[in-house]
Amino acid sequence: MTSGAADSHAFAHAPMANCPFMPVFGPPAIMFERGRGTELWDSNGKRYLDFLAGIAVVSLGHANPVVAEAVADQLDRLLHVSNFFATPVATEAAVKVNGLLADATGHAGQLFFTNSGAESNECAIKLARKHGGRGRHTVVSALGSFHGRTLATLAATGQPAKHEPFAPMPEGFRHVAWGDLDAMRAAVDGSVAAVLIESIQGEGGVNPATDQYLQGIRALCDETGALMMVDEIQTGFARTGRWFGFEHSGVSPDVVTLAKAMGNGMPVGACWARVDVAAVFEPGDHGSTYSGTAIATAAVNAVIDEMQRIDAPAVAARQGQRIVSLLHDVQAVVDVRGRGLMLGVELAPGIDARVVYADLLDRGLIVNAVSPTTIRLVPPITVTDSEVDEAVAMISAALETASEEGAE
Ligand SMILES: *Cc1c(COP(=O)(O)O)cnc(C)c1O
Repeated sequence: MTSGAADSHAFAHAPMANCPFMPVFGPPAIMFERGRGTELWDSNGKRYLDFLAGIAVVSLGHANPVVAEAVADQLDRLLHVSNFFATPVATEAAVKVNGLLADATGHAGQLFFTNSGAESNECAIKLARKHGGRGRHTVVSALGSFHGRTLATLAATGQPAKHEPFAPMPEGFRHVAWGDLDAMRAAVDGSVAAVLIESIQGEGGVNPATDQYLQGIRALCDETGALMMVDEIQTGFARTGRWFGFEHSGVSPDVVTLAKAMGNGMPVGACWARVDVAAVFEPGDHGSTYSGTAIATAAVNAVIDEMQRIDAPAVAARQGQRIVSLLHDVQAVVDVRGRGLMLGVELAPGIDARVVYADLLDRGLIVNAVSPTTIRLVPPITVTDSEVDEAVAMISAALETASEEGAE
């Protein structure tokens, strides 16, 4: 085997199992080389429609020209200076994100930029602990939730099987049945600093919270003084047909965590809190080298500008309704959950979502199996009508095949 720069392209054609990646994801299914909007092309030149969008990240489509130009311009100007100093782009991005959340919550706020969803929740958990004070540090979250992979956010994640290999978990986390307000009431005692909840459970199978559930949690937090922290990492930035998922239920959280679509693929997130809550942090309490780095916040500005220009929440709502009504006529679809362009397609009993996922990949449609019976659709918000028609036709064909095989 030869090596060197001239040979580096050969890597793309080498068996992917030889990649020196830690084996936490399993062998990658496909090598992608290029994207544009909803479309992706693999190393063999095969075209796909991407209805996963990098797990609800690329909401404005792959290689979005507005975001690409903003990032490229910033690349020529300034990448990073550290948080001893400010930059115009980071300041502008903070004002924009804060503006969206002030509108959505009715509260003035402040934020801390992060590099990922887990870091956004990590910041929220630290904020909750400091806000609660000694003896009041417990964070309550729901079973089936997903809040990240760092130790603290894994501990908040309501999936005990994911904790097991890494015991002992950090102390101070409690889980209750999702959607069960009585269970939540029973769990929120004087030791609880915060409730951390998704407005729609994403990784847990696309399970929307009911309005009554979120309103009940808000009332409970008001009674007890616990913070209501909503994890909008997957639901935020227009995905559900509103800027933030909690807006559907008319509740105003104290803390909101963000990431995924915020940078359209640039790694960036934020932990936002009401001003009086954020005020418990003092210099030295939290930090991150890359927090609010210029190159990432340039993307944030472009994402928000572009989402406002196209009225992304309205587009997501309209296109989501279109997908739901088209799927209504597809045999073997028993239910479609979710809001806007965050949809969980529940398949008829006996059909394995992982088999359907693999078949769709062959046909050129990327989705993912978020449970053994559920396919998740989170396409770019910029998906076109004809791409939706094409995707629904592929799903219909795949489910027909799966039903025939199931019947044999
Ligand atoms: C993806 C996700 C996270 C974790 O984000 P990372 O960027 O992978 O750390 C946390 N919460 C929710 C709801 C998510 O969907």
